[in-house]
Amino acid sequence: MAQKTPITVAHGDGIGPEIMRATLNIIQAAGANIEIETVEIGEKAYLRGIETGMEPGAWDSLRRTKVFLKAPITTPQGGGYKSLNVTTRKALGLYANVRPCVSYHPFVHTKHPVMDVVIIRENEEDLYAGIEHRQTEQVYQCLKLITRPGSEKIIRYAFEYARANNRRKVTCFVKDNIMKLTDGLFHKVFDEIGSEYPDIEKETWIVDIGAAKLADSPENFDVIVMPNLYGDILSDVAAQIAGSVGLAGSANIGEQCAMFEAIHGSAPRRAGQNLANPSGLLLAAVMMLVHIGQAEVATRVYNAWLKTIEDGIHTYDIFREGVSRQKVGTNEFADAVIQRLGEIPKMLKPVSYEASTPIKLWQNDSSRHVPEKRLVGVDVFLDWKRGSPDDLGGALSKISAGTLQLRVISNRGIKVWPNGLPETFCTDHWRCRFTGDNNEGIPPLRVIELLQRITESGFDNIKNENLYLFDGKPGFSAVHG
Ligand code: NAD
Repeated sequence: MAQKTPITVAHGDGIGPEIMRATLNIIQAAGANIEIETVEIGEKAYLRGIETGMEPGAWDSLRRTKVFLKAPITTPQGGGYKSLNVTTRKALGLYANVRPCVSYHPFVHTKHPVMDVVIIRENEEDLYAGIEHRQTEQVYQCLKLITRPGSEKIIRYAFEYARANNRRKVTCFVKDNIMKLTDGLFHKVFDEIGSEYPDIEKETWIVDIGAAKLADSPENFDVIVMPNLYGDILSDVAAQIAGSVGLAGSANIGEQCAMFEAIHGSAPRRAGQNLANPSGLLLAAVMMLVHIGQAEVATRVYNAWLKTIEDGIHTYDIFREGVSRQKVGTNEFADAVIQRLGEIPKMLKPVSYEASTPIKLWQNDSSRHVPEKRLVGVDVFLDWKRGSPDDLGGALSKISAGTLQLRVISNRGIKVWPNGLPETFCTDHWRCRFTGDNNEGIPPLRVIELLQRITESGFDNIKNENLYLFDGKPGFSAVHG
């Protein structure tokens, strides 16, 4: 017999221990070849004063096994506890969040009988880098970071996932009509990498209309890949409209480690009563089995689970008179799945997983073209409350360094000087763009000289962004207006 695959298991809080027991019983009865290392995480760890909610020994186990099956935990109210999920995701570099959203019509109620969508969400970047600043009395900012390696990894993952799972189409959601550089990069990388997969259909939607179409006609979507924020919101929308939040599992995949969990929480009010539905965690465990190369066991478990749902054996949360046949508790539901191992569903679509092969998602290739980067100016941000845009423009026009001169001032991105409109509402946060003549290169010390003069003139300079051309193309957005 092949060597057992070690996995780290956390039983969590609330309904966690019950649904984890049910899940492990099912996958072990199906022949999962695993060696379990149990770790303690969650409420008890938090209350013992461990601010991450995870024992140091748990990290050692995770680094050893690289596979984490995690039950939901309870985050104690108040007290500034750190989110275990965010910590785990960042510490282990889990860049992809994969959430299949499937409807099980007519056995589980849904408005969308034909839905089988997989949301693949970038998990580390975008507005979730957690880089926020208050800059003036009135203005706060959050930095949106989209990187080429981050985009390449998630997009390649989405195409590889589609190929490995016999999916026909990958859709990309972005807002690059507004965020031309950041979301523009994500879109560009999608087109570049998509061209390497001629067998897969590709499409891109602006996220607003894309989201509306997803909510209205999810049957038209297959795999959808998106940056972090849109993915966070839309993966919940998709799971909800499939009718099965309590049935959905998710995978968090990294280059070395992976974490699998249900999408619901620890439902403390249902704990200890043999009521909870273990399906979300079980379907997460199915993804885990595929991930560790036990696709055949995963297939057996999923098909037996589909047959159980189809036979009308339902926990309270999905039980409906007239559709369901038997209302069961957590343990009886697990027993029913175990009894059906080896069976395949008759009405619901059976699955057949194939072993996935690891791929290199990002290569820091030395043959990559490195663009020529030229400093051509600086956006100087000021906290200023002393007058009109014309007053500010008049005062700053007198300050220069070499050819660096004031060209335009904007407030919240709208041009207010020169020739601004009196109707434009202004806050105390001003962006003053200084550039040289005709895109000429500027020595960096010239920028420092300029900033020194601005500060010496009594302005409150809160931050600056250098303006670069990359191979002659602007690496900054134009000013509106
Ligand atoms: P929840 O998902 O735990 O529960 C909401 C409701 O959904 C429950 O009252 C219950 O009626 C139902 N429900 C959820 N899962 C079910 C299941 N498996 N079977 C049957 N019914 C189920 O959300 P909540 O009440 O907002 O959060 C409770 C706790 O869980 C909080 O402490 C929260 O921080 C935590 N939480 C943890 C995770 C995680 O560990 N990944 C995720 C979300 C919430």
